[in-house]
Amino acid sequence: VPLILTQFLDRAVSLYGDKTAMICSGRTLTYKQLNERVNRLSHGLKQLGVEKGDRVAYLAPNTLEMLEGFYGVFQLGAIMVPLNTRLKPDDYLFILNHSESKVLFVDQDLYHLIVPIKEKLQTIKTIIVHQKDEETNEIAYDEWLAQHPNTPFDRPDIDENDVCSLLYTSGTTGNPKGVMLTHRNNYLHALISMHHLRVSDEDTYLHILPMFHVNGWGSPFYYTANGATQIGLRKVDAKVIFDYIQTYKVSVMHMAPTVLNMLLQYYDKHKPVIDHPVRVVIAGSAPPPSFVTRVEQDLGWEFIQVYGMTESSPLNLVSQIRSHLRDLPQEKQYRLKAKAGYPMIGCDVRVVDEHGDEVPHDGKTIGELVIRSNNVMKGYWKNPEATMETIRNGWLYTGDMGTVDEYGYIDIVDRKKDIIISGGENISSIEVEGVLYEHPAVLEAAVIAAPHEKWGETPHAFVVVRTGHEVTEEELIAFSREKLAHFKAITGVTFVDELPKTASGKIQKVHLRKQYWDSIG
Ligand code: ATP
Ligand code: MG
Repeated sequence: VPLILTQFLDRAVSLYGDKTAMICSGRTLTYKQLNERVNRLSHGLKQLGVEKGDRVAYLAPNTLEMLEGFYGVFQLGAIMVPLNTRLKPDDYLFILNHSESKVLFVDQDLYHLIVPIKEKLQTIKTIIVHQKDEETNEIAYDEWLAQHPNTPFDRPDIDENDVCSLLYTSGTTGNPKGVMLTHRNNYLHALISMHHLRVSDEDTYLHILPMFHVNGWGSPFYYTANGATQIGLRKVDAKVIFDYIQTYKVSVMHMAPTVLNMLLQYYDKHKPVIDHPVRVVIAGSAPPPSFVTRVEQDLGWEFIQVYGMTESSPLNLVSQIRSHLRDLPQEKQYRLKAKAGYPMIGCDVRVVDEHGDEVPHDGKTIGELVIRSNNVMKGYWKNPEATMETIRNGWLYTGDMGTVDEYGYIDIVDRKKDIIISGGENISSIEVEGVLYEHPAVLEAAVIAAPHEKWGETPHAFVVVRTGHEVTEEELIAFSREKLAHFKAITGVTFVDELPKTASGKIQKVHLRKQYWDSIG
């Protein structure tokens, strides 16, 4: 039996048909109702001329319509292209033309982003608007769905190695690339993730990570397969998140550390009441170590760190305390959980030197993370050169540098491009940021390399100060010298009101580097 993603919805319909599949903006769908709308969607797309292998684009927040899109598009053997909601019209023009998408579904609130480029779209034949208002002169989704039958859709033969999604990377380091993931990639990623994150039919999952981004993208599969309930969230806001957690009895969430930081701030100030257990909160993207203890001690939620990238579906590492390590002192356990973790089942993740040999498990020798697993992408869309550069001899070269400790936990030191080289020593910007986050006046921090006459480079910090606090550049420099080896200490600070972030909540150091270089002329 080929591993096809539609099987997950089939299973939920047969075992959990009348259970709530998803709630969003006050609307609720059971799994049966979801499936009927998915069928209408597939019939409708077929009538529009969408065939197996064609691309269908989505520009929407985390809504019911977005979830329907997953299964409605896959039933046809077509490829979903979810678009980052925080791009500019010209970026959409590039991606829609580059992916040669045929149909575009767009949320009413985001429709204005498409208006300026409509005439230049080369392959889009139809635009359909979710929650269309009177002024918008396009097809209204709900009316269009209603014209098509809810009866089972006659599925074409789909191979598990067929591509099901084109996900453009976050663009943290440059132009986004279109990552081709197959049914098999996503299917096996879902199986191992549901195991490691202990997903069950008792879970209620709040969609905080955007569904267009790989981590938010992968999660609906494992919550659907288990008949869990999913809650849509149109906009990330700490108050709304705490309200939803309480109202819907949310048990599990995945989020970027920047969002976790927002929740911790909000919690300190308002102490919102949550009278049921939140099972776990999951985060990747280098959360500072202090967040791990704060989540577990202050909020009382389990924290699990994960690691991955769009090119690997994404997850390949998970950080939990394995049973034989539970006797370690609590402090040591927190330090382990603050690392990216150890390989998930079926994932071969190694840290290698420039010759491709594994570095010793000493917790200090730095190498590049390489991955060989069923989660690794088929390649970059229409970019064989970039694919060949990234996947070599069957290994995905991640561009991330790390160390491995005696227990097999991998710690991400930095992206290769972000590492600061000072007097021949490697400095991890992530480690320096972790220390700055310990300072009570620091709300957010990002560290980049600044040019230095004597040392080549030294760490320079961009800092957002917490409201009601004050701190000087000298104080922060002294603080970092107290906590870090002196060569790792920051040598300067730029205070800013906010840090530039991607839609998935990552800090964009490219922009900070540019700002820094502009400031020094
Ligand atoms: P682009 O490739 O377009 O520049 P991006 O690399 O940010 O953007 P993603 O695929 O969303 O796009 O992010 C993957 C990257 O996020 C990883 O390569 C790694 O640098 C970082 N990352 C993910 N999880 C962790 C983690 N647990 N600790 C440290 N870094 C992480
Ligand atoms: Mg990347």
